[in-house]
Amino acid sequence: MKKHNFSAGPCILPKEVLQKASEAVINFNGLDLSLVEISHRSPDFVAVMDKARDLVLELLDLKDKGYSALFLQGGASLEFLMVPYNLLPEGGKSSYLNTGTWSSKAIKEAKLFGEVVEIASSKDSNFNYIPKGYKVPDDVAYVHCTSNNTIFGTQMKEFPQTKDQLLVCDMSSDIFSRKLDFSQFDLIYAGAQKNMGPAGTTLVVVKDAILGKTGRKIPSMLDYQIHIDKDSMFNTPPVFPVYVSMLTLEWLKNMGGIEIIEKRNVEKANLLYSEIDNNPLFRGVAKKEDRSNMNVTFVLTDETKKDRFDQLWKAAGISGINGHRSVGGYRASIYNAMPLESVQVLVDAMRAV
Ligand SMILES: *Cc1c(COP(=O)(O)O)cnc(C)c1O
Repeated sequence: MKKHNFSAGPCILPKEVLQKASEAVINFNGLDLSLVEISHRSPDFVAVMDKARDLVLELLDLKDKGYSALFLQGGASLEFLMVPYNLLPEGGKSSYLNTGTWSSKAIKEAKLFGEVVEIASSKDSNFNYIPKGYKVPDDVAYVHCTSNNTIFGTQMKEFPQTKDQLLVCDMSSDIFSRKLDFSQFDLIYAGAQKNMGPAGTTLVVVKDAILGKTGRKIPSMLDYQIHIDKDSMFNTPPVFPVYVSMLTLEWLKNMGGIEIIEKRNVEKANLLYSEIDNNPLFRGVAKKEDRSNMNVTFVLTDETKKDRFDQLWKAAGISGINGHRSVGGYRASIYNAMPLESVQVLVDAMRAV
């Protein structure tokens, strides 16, 4: 039976991408060698890395605008400390918008490097909204925000306005899902496993001109400039996650790019949210204006129906919609590769309760 994978991460990837990737594990480019057993310095793999980096900048419309794309390791979680290491001058201050678990973790790491100003937080209501009307302090090196809050199901529609401060964004769970002016950001990072590929690589897109200004001594593996100088091959890169990410980016480009996927994502989200709003048995968790088009969080209004609903969605082949322990209820993650038909299957189960 076909499974409908609503997992929050690692998550669904396009079928044809998985098909191609599985073939490359056995016989890559007709070399009669596996993708995972050839040298990362071989021309065939270097071409994969170059193409992946190039597609990132092309899809984000950042080509020839002074940005570099890197495929690193350590997850988005390592970026929580690489960001202050590379961008915060000795004795300087940084500022963070606290919109959930991941922002809070980023703040914790930044505090190891200097004073952190929390410019706003929605912690008081279990992060079910995005704070607005905050002011960015003049004396901070950068502002950090999280564009989509995977656990709580909120998504930023507007970003902090900065002057001299750099703008840094964790886009792990909504990168390549919607059109934005990506050039407003100085640094973007995203763990691959939400909307791009398997776990094991982290995308970093950084404006070259912002680096080398902190006066800090940075260990080589944590230094963005070293990774840029080595074309994202300072050490052995995670070849399989990079290859699958490249295939996903190609899939996205062939489909028509971010504008097209955004239309589909809006359609899927509208279908699900309108059921949540119109079916008295369900209630959305996130404040309406801040709802995420990637992670849809909702609860039952009548807990006695839980067994029935759980039976229905399981019988329909749905997987991965149990809510995160800090929110409860349900979370349907409807990333780029999720087809509308799968969302319809979930809506049908909701209607049948
Ligand atoms: C999943 C997630 C992370 C953590 O990513 P890892 O790659 O597991 O370190 C960070 N930020 C956001 C928004 C996420 O969704």
